[in-house]
Amino acid sequence: MQKNEVVKVKIEDIGVGGEGIGKVDGYTLFIKDTIIGDVVEAKVMKAKKNYGYARLMNVLTPSKDRVEEVVCPMARKCGGCQIQEMKYPAQLAFKESKVRGNLERIGEVPGELLDEIMHPVVGMDEEGMQPFRYRNKAQFPIGTDKDGRVTVGFYAGRTHSIIGNTDCVLGVEVNEEILNCILDFMEEFEIPAYDEVKHKGLVRHVLLRYGFKTDEIMVCLVINGKTIPHCHDLVGRLRQIPGMTSITLSSNTAKTNVIMGDTIRLLWGQEFITDYIGEIKYQISPLSFYQVNPVQTEKLYGLALDYAGLTGNETVWDLYCGIGTISLFLAKKAKQVYGVEIVPQAIDDARNNAKINDITNAEFYVGKAEEVLPEYYKEYEKTHNGETAHADVIVVDPPRKGCEESLLQTIVDMQPEKVVYVSCDSATLARDVKFLRAKGYELKDVTPVDQFPHTVHVETVCLLSRK
Ligand code: SAH
Repeated sequence: MQKNEVVKVKIEDIGVGGEGIGKVDGYTLFIKDTIIGDVVEAKVMKAKKNYGYARLMNVLTPSKDRVEEVVCPMARKCGGCQIQEMKYPAQLAFKESKVRGNLERIGEVPGELLDEIMHPVVGMDEEGMQPFRYRNKAQFPIGTDKDGRVTVGFYAGRTHSIIGNTDCVLGVEVNEEILNCILDFMEEFEIPAYDEVKHKGLVRHVLLRYGFKTDEIMVCLVINGKTIPHCHDLVGRLRQIPGMTSITLSSNTAKTNVIMGDTIRLLWGQEFITDYIGEIKYQISPLSFYQVNPVQTEKLYGLALDYAGLTGNETVWDLYCGIGTISLFLAKKAKQVYGVEIVPQAIDDARNNAKINDITNAEFYVGKAEEVLPEYYKEYEKTHNGETAHADVIVVDPPRKGCEESLLQTIVDMQPEKVVYVSCDSATLARDVKFLRAKGYELKDVTPVDQFPHTVHVETVCLLSRK
């Protein structure tokens, strides 16, 4: 196979990044934006010895799983959605098989066991429609386009070039109005956008959050500096938008890919917005993690609560607790809940959230789960004459890299009856499940939940029980 060669390919498989995979005379091609069942014409962009990458030129025969028309005109360029061209049931099937495949291959969980304990993926119920506008959070980079005009949008896949787009169809409609307001303001007062190559300019990102149950809106501008000129004017415009609740600045003057700065300064309103998951009320500040798909989150937490099987007498640890979302969801049914989280502002939110919900049996610790829990365990032993700390249920909800082995070991040492593992990366989940299964825990239940339609990401909840 040669670069620039145009070939006809039938797509037979899908890769972990959502790309289609097909073969031409035994040579494997990875082709973005194609799906299983498509017959396509593609141009080879990069040819290695045994495999290559090609660009979709034409769909000759569409797969039965291909949508007639992609909703977002930017979908192919933008790095946000990878599988928007795929009908929703096919997206769900892909995610289910991804989770299953990882548990089998990496986790070494026998297929027969998974047949028994793995449930179908919980999708968004949209009566046959493709689910859009489900995200409550968006972070838009701001830059300058070829003509020197301020632009806002999303990064193209695997790059930092900004594709202008004020209306992402995964986000809420009001985002567009807010972004246009900020763009107009910047243009009028000649406020420069940040240039990440030269590390010059002012406005870097806009973070937007929306409370689905409360209609409250948060705007946080991330700037390469301390203040924005004519700030009053900007605030005056933004606060006219119905639902506006919180306008803040975050100063980030570092040459870094990290979006947010460490501090938040209030410009108008309050520093947080409020939202509900189920009965529980949460105050969310700009630096805190909050699940982005509230409709699916309620289902996810419902499953975690189910798996925890609480009766009211249990001691529960919620590791990687964020603003205490799962902790508070569980607290009403447990004796005592302890949450651990690395971001101090999130723990402030968690404590406050306990208070505003009249929950008195939840306690929160700032720190790394892999440090806080082992230290607690050691300290307990010392102060209780060698008796070891025990938990009835331990919930973990780590970021993509999963749990450190030292943490998993402490979990095993604390001998909880149940471990509920909430995961946003089924590969690291599978690795950790393998460890826990080898140390006396049985995998009892697995349910993937689709938190992120049109992307290749999938959340999974697992129940492990002590043998
Ligand atoms: N359970 C929460 C948050 C899950 S996201 C919810 O559902 O809303 C993962 C959280 O882990 C984030 O809040 C992140 O700040 C935190 N985190 C990342 N690394 C950590 C570590 N080593 N120890 C504790 N928390 C960590």
